[in-house]
Amino acid sequence: MICRKCDAPATILIRKEYWYCNTCFITNTNHKFRACLGRSKTLSPNEKVLICLSDSTSSMVLLDLVQNSISLNGTKKLRVIPFFLHIIETATEDSIRTAKLIIEQCNKYNLDIYIVDINEYYSTNNILPDINVLPQTKSETLNNMRMNVSATIYDDVIVKIKRTLFLRIASELSCKIIFTAETTTQLAKRLLTNLAIGRGSQVENDIGFADQRDKSIKILRPMKDISNEEIEYFLKVKQISKIQNSSNTKIGLQSVVDNFVLDLQKNYPATVSTVCKTADKLGSAENTTETQNCTLCQSNITFKSSKLTAVEATIFSRQMCTNKAGVNDKIEVMQSITEDKNPMFPSIYKTLCYGCSRNFSELDSYL
Ligand SMILES: [Zn+2]
Ligand SMILES: [Zn+2]
Repeated sequence: MICRKCDAPATILIRKEYWYCNTCFITNTNHKFRACLGRSKTLSPNEKVLICLSDSTSSMVLLDLVQNSISLNGTKKLRVIPFFLHIIETATEDSIRTAKLIIEQCNKYNLDIYIVDINEYYSTNNILPDINVLPQTKSETLNNMRMNVSATIYDDVIVKIKRTLFLRIASELSCKIIFTAETTTQLAKRLLTNLAIGRGSQVENDIGFADQRDKSIKILRPMKDISNEEIEYFLKVKQISKIQNSSNTKIGLQSVVDNFVLDLQKNYPATVSTVCKTADKLGSAENTTETQNCTLCQSNITFKSSKLTAVEATIFSRQMCTNKAGVNDKIEVMQSITEDKNPMFPSIYKTLCYGCSRNFSELDSYL
């Protein structure tokens, strides 16, 4: 087989369809990364950017792509001032080894990195550590939470906590832009999970190129057109060490979706990117001027629907089971929601969105 770009013998087959030689494959991946950022036109010259290397294997590729783009000359050069961050999620040997590996890799490129323990989420002071050092192990609050709540809720909460930490550290470093390392495959998984756990209205910011929920800091996903398949080849060709994922062993909804998408990628490779492209086209339907945001995830929670929503339907069924239903039940349900009297969904539409309120009801002592 011949490379589709240069007629050299091909070594890599992507999506069971496109053949590349090693050189053209690496060039193409770098191009995808820069094209994604170029199209968006969100970066000003010498923009300070916080680059978050906390998302498994794809982080190592993000690091390499950034390093490559900032060392180019001429018009192709990515003109940003990068700051690198890795968050340690658990105090296991695996996570410590991963953090050490990331420090090593950064130092190979002559770059510095901040390593932060996820439990800093509870700290009220500034949390920026010294560069290139492993943090002292903090309290085990999040580990206890992991033991005590369902894997589905834990995984969802961790994503939100990491996002909050990214924003806090970006603000301490006065960065207005953050890069995260989600791939097409990871975003497809998140899309399906979002729909299943009642975060469908948050798809635009959770899956699209830019998360614009924070007023002053934007989170961008410049690897959103690169799949996990490409990540694997990239690491292999460039001989970069792989991060071993010490992920949750408990089975939650997210791991079920993971397996589903992995299977999809293997057997119907074009489908995964179609899932994400569809998500990209979904805008938010809300068009209100006075918006209110969830205090945990910053999503819009403006609540003005005259129709019965899934939340009300759930509360309604609960009331039907516990009380005798009456004619005015819908009115009562509406009242109990707006007056914040329902124990199932604390603070819903007051300060929390549906997803966060449901999480909060299970783990208020941890948040
Ligand atoms: Zn080639
Ligand atoms: Zn929320």
